[in-house]
Amino acid sequence: MKLVILGATGSIGTQALEVVEELKGRYDIEVAGISGNRNIKLLEEQIRKYRPKFAAVPEEALAAELQHLVADTDCKILSGQEGLCYLAAETGADMVLSAIVGFAGLVPTLRAVEAGIDIALANKETLVTAGSIFTKAIAKNKVRLLPVDSEHCAIFQSLKAGKSQEIHKILLTASGGPFFGKKREELLHITKAQALKHPNWSMGAKITIDSATLMNKGLEVMEAKWLFDVEIDDIEVVVQRESIIHSMVEFADHSVIAQMSKPSMKHPIQYAFTYPDRLVAKEDRVDFAALGKLTFYAPDEETFRCLALAKQAGRQGGIMPTVLNAANEVAVDGFLRDSIGFLEIAERVESEMAAWTNHQDPTLEELIAIDGEIRSKGL
Ligand code: NDP
Repeated sequence: MKLVILGATGSIGTQALEVVEELKGRYDIEVAGISGNRNIKLLEEQIRKYRPKFAAVPEEALAAELQHLVADTDCKILSGQEGLCYLAAETGADMVLSAIVGFAGLVPTLRAVEAGIDIALANKETLVTAGSIFTKAIAKNKVRLLPVDSEHCAIFQSLKAGKSQEIHKILLTASGGPFFGKKREELLHITKAQALKHPNWSMGAKITIDSATLMNKGLEVMEAKWLFDVEIDDIEVVVQRESIIHSMVEFADHSVIAQMSKPSMKHPIQYAFTYPDRLVAKEDRVDFAALGKLTFYAPDEETFRCLALAKQAGRQGGIMPTVLNAANEVAVDGFLRDSIGFLEIAERVESEMAAWTNHQDPTLEELIAIDGEIRSKGL
């Protein structure tokens, strides 16, 4: 299989390259192309190790720098949005792993779909912001869409136990994040360092903050709606503190089917790569006796407003999920730069949503313009 990794220098991208390495000799994957954003030093190392024919970075100056660093290899360096799209759609890939963070991942992923290439989707923002456009393109081009988000991979696997018309509800699990059980007063002075310390997962900065605010779970509710063609209110978020159950499906006969494994993104990444086959994994097995118990709670949507806001945007549809997503990306960036406090993230998102009049069936160009407008306003 020929693989292109969009976002190869990130948390998902680097773990995907480790999976490629671990599968060597059992399931050979040729890394045809990789992309990054600012970390060209790591891209250089990856180019030397995996020998892709193409690599891309958005910024021209960094692309030129990278070209200079790898001048002794035969890797062609591409730049700009066109470069990312060319990498995704025109370099002979059988599968694109979409692992850029944020709205920036949408257009290159869509181009790959339009070129008929299978997608392993980590970039949830693609489905959140352009779910209707993206799922139509998937159907039209008959490509396989394999979820890499661990919860959606779990649902995808659990759904194999029944028919889609037999689904009663989806139980989307959440770890609860680092501030589980805390109330608003206790979150007033949360620091960036505290929010970046996730109890169970090691991830990129943006998704780690989204996990702390529960926005990540809200984005995942919308992602599940599009992936599995269910209504927002047929998805129930359940806090599963140990992150062993990655999600569940309850069928009409009240049977609940769950997927469990140790919390590692390598499981869903490998499953997407080798699907429909299951290969021996390097990761540890769950030792249930050592684990002792699994604990469940309802999420606190009053304290963690972002989850409620995301569900609201999901129910409203139209441009609202894009508005919510862009406002959240701006606010999280502001929090990471110490410009706003933790609780202000939800406040910023809520006031941005209130400033827009919704309409249904926006075009891709409209969504890009809305995202750009909110970003250019900044905080
Ligand atoms: P990281 O921040 O670790 O990595 C993001 C990647 O995208 C990097 O390669 C980065 O390049 C690149 N990038 C950042 N901004 C841009 C841009 N404007 N244009 C092009 N490339 C860009 O993120 P994660 O790996 O944590 O997450 C990636 C996606 O996967 C997200 O959508 C996230 O929600 C999803 N996901 C992540 C999980 C995880 O465990 N990490 C779990 C489930 C889903 P560089 O580093 O060179 O700057």
